[in-house]
Amino acid sequence: MKIAVLKELADGEKRVSASPETVKKFIALGASLAVEKGAGVSASVADKDYQDMGATIGIRQAVLKDADIVLAVQGPEPESLKGIKKGAWLVASLNPFGERKRVDAYAKLGIDALAMEFMPRITRAQSMDILSSQSNLSGYKSVLEAAAHYGRVFPMMMTAAGTVSAARCFIMGVGVAGLQAIATARRLGAQVSATDVRAATKEQIKSLGAKPIFVESVEGIEGEGTGGYATEMSEKYQKAQAELVSAHIAKQDIVITTALIPGRPAPRLISDAQIATMRTGSVIVDLAAEQGGNVEGAVAGKVVEKHGVKIIGANNMPSSMAADSSALFSRNLYNFLSAYWDEEAKRPVLPDDDEVTIGIRLTKDGKVVNERLLAK
Ligand code: NAD
Repeated sequence: MKIAVLKELADGEKRVSASPETVKKFIALGASLAVEKGAGVSASVADKDYQDMGATIGIRQAVLKDADIVLAVQGPEPESLKGIKKGAWLVASLNPFGERKRVDAYAKLGIDALAMEFMPRITRAQSMDILSSQSNLSGYKSVLEAAAHYGRVFPMMMTAAGTVSAARCFIMGVGVAGLQAIATARRLGAQVSATDVRAATKEQIKSLGAKPIFVESVEGIEGEGTGGYATEMSEKYQKAQAELVSAHIAKQDIVITTALIPGRPAPRLISDAQIATMRTGSVIVDLAAEQGGNVEGAVAGKVVEKHGVKIIGANNMPSSMAADSSALFSRNLYNFLSAYWDEEAKRPVLPDDDEVTIGIRLTKDGKVVNERLLAK
């Protein structure tokens, strides 16, 4: 049973899908590991670190040859998978909605493409969830980015030269990234408030010492869809939310937006008119910039200035912490594959009727088989 670890070729991608630790663990399960030369370098892992754990190092073609399972962070271009054997598994973050043509090409190659971001949000799959492990880091980094671009300080400072007041920081969207952003902003000494459409987050916000800002006037709205994800809100709710946000946002120094709805463009939470009400020098970080943006005018990977406010459009934030994000990503992949390891077959086996299989399997036997993709 051979596992191949690919070097990432996408622009700006520094992560790697296996760490020396997970390589060692896969080998202990009975697999052989082949790592593409230089795969870990930008995540601070040298080829020798993998070799020391028992992996072989080679060029892409050699690594792919006869591989049963191919690990990657982002979905590789199908042309770069030449020589991959039929029936091999590709395990990575495959951006299935955004890269639909690529999924069709994987089907044509005859491989089983397994999209880790489609992992169901069930208790037993928590340790396999790349969205959680990576969002947590993004939430942390978003606050540091905001602090670095803010021409003032976060904590209140009482000095001999006078007092500096604490920054007011507002977090919109309190999922995994938002919760970490609240905690990080609190640690830096900001006055933190937060909002979400899911009522369950109110207590979580309070428990982290931040102030919940919630729409109370629209009755009967839960905002929680299946699997703990948010649903798209009614027009009435969106209007009430926009009014509340307008009043609140004008008093904020830092705003961090993290709101996502799976398979849909990110909801627009902040308009240009609202940005114009903010104090000059304020900073907005849009963690949803790559999914269309929560903030009008945000551009993924750029810092743009509007009405004296800096808007940071996040672009693959986990890649900027590649050593830690790779270590966690790698563990997610290991936790998944080892959970399905079959001692007799000496490889992982995915039952067709398993909730995880149904969730993440995009292609099989030359066809696209995933219900979420076929329903689109
Ligand atoms: P996400 O990345 O899908 O979205 C981020 C946040 O934005 C969510 O809290 C969402 O409710 C919010 N949001 C969406 N539209 C909004 C709007 N218009 N205004 C304000 N906020 C809006 O979410 P996530 O970080 O993945 O987490 C969502 C929930 O799922 C959490 O409760 C998390 O703990 C849970 N979760 C469970 C598992 C598991 O059990 N395996 C794994 C991951 C997440």
